[in-house]
Amino acid sequence: MSDIVLPVVGSSEAGGRPVLGFTCYPELRPFSTGDGDVNLVCGGCGFILVAGSTGTAQRPSMLIRCPSCGRYNDPVPQTA
Ligand SMILES: [Zn+2]
Repeated sequence: MSDIVLPVVGSSEAGGRPVLGFTCYPELRPFSTGDGDVNLVCGGCGFILVAGSTGTAQRPSMLIRCPSCGRYNDPVPQTA
């Protein structure tokens, strides 16, 4: 299992882009859990946003708002 720390984007950069997030959180837990070997981790606080991703195929194209710290994470893979 490896962790991928997502880059955090500011609210101005997030403007206009769809955001995956809930307005209320009954509990802090990953948005989705799969059987892959990659965790997508919040770049702001280290919270696991997506557990068990199998890679880029399962990454959402929208921003992910961290339920723990409220920052916007960009899951789009960066070209190294
Ligand atoms: Zn966070």
